[in-house]
Amino acid sequence: MIKIFICPKCYNFRMVSRKPSAECYHCDANLVKTELEYTTYMDMSEEERNAFKENFKNRMLSYNEKLRDILAVEEKVR
Ligand SMILES: [Zn+2]
Repeated sequence: MIKIFICPKCYNFRMVSRKPSAECYHCDANLVKTELEYTTYMDMSEEERNAFKENFKNRMLSYNEKLRDILAVEEKVR
């Protein structure tokens, strides 16, 4: 199953197959898995992808301070 990952530094998309994590081709940062399915991503227009990127960027910026809390919550969910 192919998942869509995004770079938290340069915000490039990357398709990743059967791997839980991946690094960015451009800046070697650990990529973040998005909620996008491969088919959803393929159906998106360039504009929609850019909108998603912007949205992700804003979320990353606002979450940055709370990142530690979020990771702690995710640990509990697992
Ligand atoms: Zn990158």
